[in-house]
Amino acid sequence: MFKKFANWAKSRGGVHPIGHKEKSAESAIRPASLPDMLYIPLRQHAGASAIPIVNIGDKVAKGQLIAVAPTEVSAPVHASSSGTVKEITDIVAPHPSGHTAPAIVIKTDGEDRWFDAGKIEDPFKTPPLELADKVAQAGIVGMGGAIFPAAVKLKQGAKHEIKTVLVNGSECEPYLTCDDRLMREKAEHIITGARLVRYILQAYRVVIAIEDNKPEAIKAIQAAAAPFGSIEVHIVPAKYPMGSAKQLIQWVTGREVPAGARSTSVGTLVHNVGTIFAIYEALMLGRPLISRVVTVAGAAINDPGNVEARIGTPISHIIDECGGYSKPPEQIIMGGPMMGMPVISDNAPMIKGATGILAFSEEEMPSKNQSPCIRCTSCVKACPMGLLPLEMASRVNAEDFDSADDYGLKDCILCGACAYVCPSHIPLVQYFQFAKGKQAIAKDAKKKMEYTVNLSVAKQNRIEEEKAAKAAEKAAKKAARQKASQARKAKSKPAPTSAPESTKEESNEQ
Ligand code: SF4
Ligand code: SF4
Repeated sequence: MFKKFANWAKSRGGVHPIGHKEKSAESAIRPASLPDMLYIPLRQHAGASAIPIVNIGDKVAKGQLIAVAPTEVSAPVHASSSGTVKEITDIVAPHPSGHTAPAIVIKTDGEDRWFDAGKIEDPFKTPPLELADKVAQAGIVGMGGAIFPAAVKLKQGAKHEIKTVLVNGSECEPYLTCDDRLMREKAEHIITGARLVRYILQAYRVVIAIEDNKPEAIKAIQAAAAPFGSIEVHIVPAKYPMGSAKQLIQWVTGREVPAGARSTSVGTLVHNVGTIFAIYEALMLGRPLISRVVTVAGAAINDPGNVEARIGTPISHIIDECGGYSKPPEQIIMGGPMMGMPVISDNAPMIKGATGILAFSEEEMPSKNQSPCIRCTSCVKACPMGLLPLEMASRVNAEDFDSADDYGLKDCILCGACAYVCPSHIPLVQYFQFAKGKQAIAKDAKKKMEYTVNLSVAKQNRIEEEKAAKAAEKAAKKAARQKASQARKAKSKPAPTSAPESTKEESNEQ
């Protein structure tokens, strides 16, 4: 009975989009040339923006800290090459809105000279929390696109019992092959990174999950993992969204992360292979996160491939590294086609979470001919979270977000599988993105309102306390004055004398 349920849960939802991976997967990672200018955004991570600590005109070296994280849920930012700080200003953000975002602009000097931050002598003999702090200082975030600060997850080992470190090498989105190439070319480094993460979390085992459409990567990782008994390689079926943390945990461990809960509730933590590689570089080589491997693909690209580019490199420069455009792109996407975001200009820079830069031709774009829902339930069958996308979308359409929540909006992982299968071309995932955005704004406004109310209550309490303190001080002074006056009066009264008595006595004696 249980086995039956587990199999059903394992196969729930998901889609099989055409991979489009062949072209980029077969070419080795190429290092991108150094651009003249680097545009390094202050916010490339979940949490608060980093705060600049350099000024215009400052000379900086590659890997030097240029902006600090104001809170634990944030990440510092480092110079991706040596040069001079030209500006600290708003630039075109890698975002569909076309809004600007603050960034540090560096004019590179061509020397690409490293900042010497030193390195740890033996990470495996260093206390785990110290290593987690080093990962935080290196500015490492989830490189699979989640952009959550990696150190926050690493510190969970001190709070929860983590049995399994799950290294996500599934790379289930079409077109993307950067993790595939990384596993083929840097397998030993990834294994060392995975061992370090296991040590930091004090976990029992590491499982590296790779989709069955990456035989070369599987071979390379299996060979590198062979000497270590605590590392297993799991081959998972190629299916979208296998790379979503909840789906992967369920497939590998057979345990379902309950709605609203975190993966730690089932003793598992998931890190993308790119994140594991960045952790290796930070702890073994003393290098912060200043570059990443990104897939450049799409029919509008001349020579698709995987490029190792510095953070802050303009998208246009990276595309030039792949032969430039073969035709004017209909749309440019940063990330994968299912969960990535369109960018309105190729002047925008590449950021830490960018898994792909995709330039699509008109033929690759989803149909815009939307028609009414025919209640075919294809979206329900495709949803890996077991939700009712059609019902959620109609509630969102009516701006009834509470009701959409009742249908599971909170559990929606925005994977886009429902929209992919919809024969009516209803952009379902855009509805859910819109609703979640609205909810986040409302939550933020509520928080600000509560903060303002708390401030005003605190101010009122302070005024009352000050009033009471002043009244008490006044009363104390009055009491002191009265006491002093009584003392003075008592002093000024003629002192009672015993003379008449003694006179009497004396006269008696006489
Ligand atoms: S897949 Fe599209 S048409 Fe079919 S039920 Fe869902 S929303 Fe309606
Ligand atoms: S986007 Fe949300 S509703 Fe649609 S398939 Fe993914 S999890 Fe389900």
